[in-house]
Amino acid sequence: MFTILNKQHSIANQYLLELRDKSIHQDRERFRKNIERLGELMAYEISKKLVYQSTSVQTPLGVSAVHVLQEKPVLITVLRAGLPYFNGFQNYFGQSDCGFIGAYRKESSAELTIKIDYLATPSLEDRVVILIDPMLATGKSVIKSVSALLEHGNPSHIHVAALVASPEGIEFLNEHLKISNDVWAWALDEKLNDQSYIVPGLGDAGDLSYGEKI
Ligand code: URA
Repeated sequence: MFTILNKQHSIANQYLLELRDKSIHQDRERFRKNIERLGELMAYEISKKLVYQSTSVQTPLGVSAVHVLQEKPVLITVLRAGLPYFNGFQNYFGQSDCGFIGAYRKESSAELTIKIDYLATPSLEDRVVILIDPMLATGKSVIKSVSALLEHGNPSHIHVAALVASPEGIEFLNEHLKISNDVWAWALDEKLNDQSYIVPGLGDAGDLSYGEKI
């Protein structure tokens, strides 16, 4: 299932507007902060879909019944653009096991390809995974990441957590993502440009967070 969260009116749309606004893009601390906030809010939305079990807690005055997470999701992010978004998720799922994928775009060939050169992950066998990859552009980094992750166990479910998605990326995931999944984004934008950037999008999330790379 694909869920777009900006259809609901909420403060999240202010954070998304600021991320898109090129007149404030020179403030990278604010840019990262807004991504982190949206990571926190998306973590909360995804938490509603997880499995809970009942327990109780002793207060100074009595006993209160409560439902708590049965199983902590595994958080996996794609370096480096995923880090501020990941931080937001980690603020909410503070005890989760975490994994990291180093992926980069290889743009020299006619067709954009994604190369993975680093992977550190816990076992994923039968676990719920949240794959945090903010810009769902072609969808290739998600599919490449998932196939690398599958070598470390078969997750019971994957939540793909994007910030902004393109129609092309969603179609690509529909075709190629074969395991039980949900895809989440704050916005579904118009299209990809010739360089496979999302339009209107927000630009290069990694460069805006951390500076241009050489
Ligand atoms: N990565 C980005 O940072 N921005 C895009 O628009 C697409 C991929």
